[in-house]
Formats: sequence, C-alpha cells, structure tokens
Amino acid sequence: MPASPAAYAAESPVARTRRARKIYRALVDRYPYAHAELDFETPLQLLVATVLSAQTTDVTVNKVTPILFSRWPTAQALAAADRVSMEEVLKPTGFFRAKTNSVITLGQALVERFDGEVPRRLKDLVTLPGVGRKTANVVLGNAFDVPGITVDTHFGRLARRFGWTEETDPVKVEHEIGALFPRKDWVMLSHVLIFHGRRTCHARKPACGACPVARWCPSYGEGETDPVKALTLLKYELAPSAVLPDPPPGPLPGERAEEPA
Ligand code: SF4
Repeated sequence: MPASPAAYAAESPVARTRRARKIYRALVDRYPYAHAELDFETPLQLLVATVLSAQTTDVTVNKVTPILFSRWPTAQALAAADRVSMEEVLKPTGFFRAKTNSVITLGQALVERFDGEVPRRLKDLVTLPGVGRKTANVVLGNAFDVPGITVDTHFGRLARRFGWTEETDPVKVEHEIGALFPRKDWVMLSHVLIFHGRRTCHARKPACGACPVARWCPSYGEGETDPVKALTLLKYELAPSAVLPDPPPGPLPGERAEEPA
C-alpha cells in the first residue's frame, strides 16, 4: 500500500524531488520506448501535426498527414493550398474547416516571417497562428532537441495526482515541474507522463492496481486497486488484448509501498 495522505502532506521539498525522480525512473522503466506519437520527418511536419492533434487522437492525425504532406510538402505549398481540397483531407480529424484555416495561415506566417522555415526559439514559435506554448515545446523538444516540458491534459492531471503541483495553469505547472528535474530529462519526462496517462492513469478510470508508481503516488486508490481488474483497464500495447512479444516491462503491481522520506 502507498503512504498515507498525511505523510505526503508533510513531505519536504527535498523529499518531494526525490520521490518525483523515483516516479520518473519507474516510468522510464515501464515505457523505455516512449516518444512523440505523432509521425513526422521534419520540424514543419511535426508543427502541423501538433496543430491538427487538437480535439482528436494522434492515431487519427497520423492517418491524414501522409496525404497532407505529400500534397503540400512545404510552408509555401501549405500557404497556397486550395482550401476545399485541404478540408477534404483533414475531414477525419474533426473541426476540419477551422483546422484547414489554421494550417493555411500557419504556412502563410512561416513564409512571410521566417522564410518558410520553422523557427527554433520558443518566443518566435508562439507568435505563429494556432501555436501555443504546448505545441512550441513539442516542436522544440522533438524536432530540435531543445529541452522543454509539454503540459498537455495528461501531463497536468498526472503531475497533480503525483502531488508534484497543485497548479492548473499550464505555464505554472511547467515551471514548477521543471524545477524538480534536470533539463536533460524534460523531454523524456513529458513522453513518459503522457504515455502513462494514455495507458494506465486515465482521467476517469486509473488502473492503480497495475501501476508501477503506486507506491509513491498520493492518489493511489482514485482508480481500481484490484490487480486483476486493473490489468483489464490498461490500453494500447499494455492492453490484455494487445499482441506483445514480451510481457509489459516494469515492476509488478501490488509491491510494498515506501513512505516518503
Ligand atoms: S494509476 Fe493510480 S497509483 Fe498510478 S499514478 Fe494514477 S492515480 Fe497514482
């Protein structure tokens, strides 16, 4: 069983940092293959795919982007695209008229202000239409190897469940969590939290009984704690129905809890 809520409430900043890093290492063990789940080959492709991923899944975006990028491979081509033709391609992603508009205006802004190239600085990226801090950090971390923390819905939810922050504002979450980890870990930290949120620590039904970080989690018990029932809640490659070459990596659920230091 994990520690009591009172023990977490009394946790010192140093103990919290130590506990945060244990959680991080356990998640890297569980998801050593964690990565950006949007398919891309260039910074432009990642930028556009991330803009398209609003209100839909990465799987859906990955289905349309090969056609999108083969028809409009550059910022110049996106800027000059025929709106109706692009809407047809983007239809499966939902909100396709607004997304078509975003992609075309994004292409135009890149051509007009950055010679058709994706800028490498956060302060430039966030001036582009439809590009917020989250999208900018995805592009910086994954296309340019610049450390950044991507606070999406999964990251924010898990950071609060872990007791790493109480903030709900993504920028505050980013800064507070950034202080707990070295910069070199920021990109992988974003990947493993998002992987964990999608596969195990779901918004409505977290699979606490099959969670490798349960022993350090103040929110243990928000979801199913029975190990057998919890396994049925896992998703994607960890789902019981998934065809796996090996059993899922990581510690077995139900191991003895450690009190925070
Ligand atoms: S699944 Fe449960 S124990 Fe695991 S991180 Fe989420 S709330 Fe905590």
